[in-house]
Amino acid sequence: MSSEKEIQALNFIEQMIDKDLAEGKHDGQVHTRFPPHPNGYLHIGHAKSICLNFGLAEKYNGKCNLRFDDTNPEKEDIEYINSIKEDIKWLGYSWDNELYASDYFGELYNYAVQLIKSGKAYVDDNSAEKISEERGTPTAPGKPSEYRARSIDENLSLFEAMKNGEFDEGVRVLRAKIDMASPIMQMRDPVIYRVKKANHHRTGSDWCIYPTYDFAHGQSDALEKVTHSLCTLEFASHRPLYDWFINELDLYPSKQTEFARLNLSYTIVSKRKLKELVEGNHVEGWDDPRMPTLAAIRRRGYTADAIRNFASKIGVAKRDGVSDVALLEHSVREDLNKKASRVLGVLNPIKLIITNYPEGQTEMLPAVNNPEDESAGKREIPFGREVYIERDDFMEDPPKKYFRMGPEREVRLKYAYIVKCTGFKKNEAGDVEEVYAEYDSDTKSGQDTTGKKVKGTLGWVSAEHAVDAEVRLYDRLFSTENLNDIDDDFKNHLNPNSLTIMSDAKVEPSVGKMASGTQFQFERLGYFIIDKDSSDSKPRINRTVSLRDNWAKQNK
Ligand code: ATP
Ligand code: MG
Repeated sequence: MSSEKEIQALNFIEQMIDKDLAEGKHDGQVHTRFPPHPNGYLHIGHAKSICLNFGLAEKYNGKCNLRFDDTNPEKEDIEYINSIKEDIKWLGYSWDNELYASDYFGELYNYAVQLIKSGKAYVDDNSAEKISEERGTPTAPGKPSEYRARSIDENLSLFEAMKNGEFDEGVRVLRAKIDMASPIMQMRDPVIYRVKKANHHRTGSDWCIYPTYDFAHGQSDALEKVTHSLCTLEFASHRPLYDWFINELDLYPSKQTEFARLNLSYTIVSKRKLKELVEGNHVEGWDDPRMPTLAAIRRRGYTADAIRNFASKIGVAKRDGVSDVALLEHSVREDLNKKASRVLGVLNPIKLIITNYPEGQTEMLPAVNNPEDESAGKREIPFGREVYIERDDFMEDPPKKYFRMGPEREVRLKYAYIVKCTGFKKNEAGDVEEVYAEYDSDTKSGQDTTGKKVKGTLGWVSAEHAVDAEVRLYDRLFSTENLNDIDDDFKNHLNPNSLTIMSDAKVEPSVGKMASGTQFQFERLGYFIIDKDSSDSKPRINRTVSLRDNWAKQNK
């Protein structure tokens, strides 16, 4: 028997599964599925569902299918199917079977006929508006349709005529005959088949009637012998209908259980809304690194391990809430801190001339690749008389507590020497153009004989060897923390400053040779990744996340 502590550590779904297994349900099998509609790219919310479904299959030595819920021909696209598969693989999971609800169109049609034959479904000639009007409200019972009492034979021949394309869209639908007075709206004779004269991405023009979500989902689960069908809370009110179909059709007893969706602060997790951002050109595409899609965060440099850790930290709850994006960023830093090499780069450069350093001399200085990982070794970086430093690292008239560079102040150039600022030059516009300093040749890092201590250490790049780069800095896509609470259009809350492009960045030579997708830390600046838009002559670099960790600070 498991100890009490172990039981507490299980989430409510694991507890339920343990109980089901103990009671011998489902022949001791655990079989889950991840069922996306192929109508957009997966987002971070889906990652939670993927980690849950595939994670349970792994844990219980069961199976997890990938099933595309492709019952809505107009909205589906092969581009989405491919991206969904790529994203799941990237997260590190593999499905047992790749399945499509459309594979079951034949069975589902037969199930509908079976319901008609048992007097449990009828063809309704009313319009969608009339059906919806007659459905009533949660407090007032619905009104039975005048077509509810149609004979079984008439229903059978009308449904067949629907299938044969004899009716236009919207003229007739098939409804389950359940209970127009049920307190659960989904049970008030839901529509289960409608006419759609659309081409389906897999079945082409074979069908001109399509099952609704409710009629397809549970039956697909049952056909696949899914034991635990996990979905988000908005489907809780559909559960009685899910069970009703399985029961009436005498199918495999798949069991639906709901868990809380993941919502994330400062972003949205809805495919429909994300699509609006793409189609309205508010972002540069589904994989714009500011988006919460898996394609976008991968391009931005979030790692699969970080996302899986995040999913495990937030856990599985029964009530909706909003997770703090700072926790996700914390997971990303935690992972990259172990994996990413450190390099030097300057985003907004200003030239520092070391006037007493010999002209034309270059020294190769050893630099540690990753202080967290000795096996990452060392590399050599060139140092010379002229280097770039960050514009922010110099102040003409700095306050006392500013430990970077200012007139007469001393700082260490990382891996190099201690330098003392001796002056600066301004251009006509009054901006500082060059800073001058003198170095102390006895202070070379690792060989310093002076014992001199300075408070500030600056990043730098040798001007002669620097590679020009473009660096994109990302901020939150929205300026509002909880977008579930707003009444107006979510697009009004877009952050106008979500992208800053540093087009004049200077990076150490090793960065110029990195392949797209390589990740690293610019010391003192954050974690970065080489973007696919890079050219041979100019790396384009995305900032994954800054080094500042608000989550760690808040939760100390
Ligand atoms: P959206 O509503 O964002 O457009 P969706 O709910 O239509 O997307 P589906 O493709 O139907 O997305 O979702 C596939 C699976 O992922 C479903 O089981 C769904 O419940 C789950 N899922 C979707 N969004 C979230 C979320 N934010 N958190 C957890 N699971 C989610
Ligand atoms: Mg949904």
